[in-house]
Amino acid sequence: MSKRDDFNPKVREALAKRVGVKCSNPDCRKPTSGPSDENAFKHTNIGVASHICAASPGGPRYDMSMSSEGRASFDNGIWLCQTHAKIIDDDVVQYPKELLLAWKKAAEDIARAEMTADTSHTPLNDDKKLIEFYVQCFDRPAFQHQINQEGSMDDFYNAIEDTIIALNTGVQRTRDRTPIKTAEGKSMLVNSEWRDKLGTIVDMLVAINHRLKIAERDNVFRLNPSGYYCFNDREMANWFDHTRIEILKILSSVCKEAGINSLKTHLKSRYEW
Ligand SMILES: [Zn+2]
Repeated sequence: MSKRDDFNPKVREALAKRVGVKCSNPDCRKPTSGPSDENAFKHTNIGVASHICAASPGGPRYDMSMSSEGRASFDNGIWLCQTHAKIIDDDVVQYPKELLLAWKKAAEDIARAEMTADTSHTPLNDDKKLIEFYVQCFDRPAFQHQINQEGSMDDFYNAIEDTIIALNTGVQRTRDRTPIKTAEGKSMLVNSEWRDKLGTIVDMLVAINHRLKIAERDNVFRLNPSGYYCFNDREMANWFDHTRIEILKILSSVCKEAGINSLKTHLKSRYEW
């Protein structure tokens, strides 16, 4: 039987608590701890201290060059819900070490922002204020230009990721990437129809970023010397544009109902103004 470099309880506890005992996948952030009905001292845990590089040879993202101590260390762990703990180990191409390290960093940032937030002024029950917050999260280049005219696909990916986080948690990043909690996540919306629509928007944003990663791996696009991206699959480029237009349309329908100004629901070419 091969040796597993498991985490000790202290490392597990640190992994969970440093991210607010929530799944570290920024698209998920599901709470992983709650009460148990058995007795007052028991709690239910649905979180997993996952290995970034596998605990034993042959496992996902196993790194031969790592020491035993390294494999069992805090740096090699990430706290996830059971679903995402399984998903990251089933598909190591989609979930490489670099992505998991980025999730871990983002989860700690979000937990810190949530913990230090001054919520005394947050209008918890004001749907209109929340919608206004979400709408301004879309007022950025990633929702204004055709995909082939994005300056950098990495910036585009990060902008989509930041929008997902803002909608899910109310945490926004400033220009220097510092996260601050300025509102509540979409689950706090009282109007269930708006909550559903925002949920659909988040699903579509997640799909955009997943599709982008796959396209990147398949070399579907490349950057021209002119600074524009060239797609060798025109339909896919259109999909990125249409999906964002559909997102803006859903958002605009919520704005209309809430009686607030919506954003433009078309993407412009940098040549037309
Ligand atoms: Zn999760």
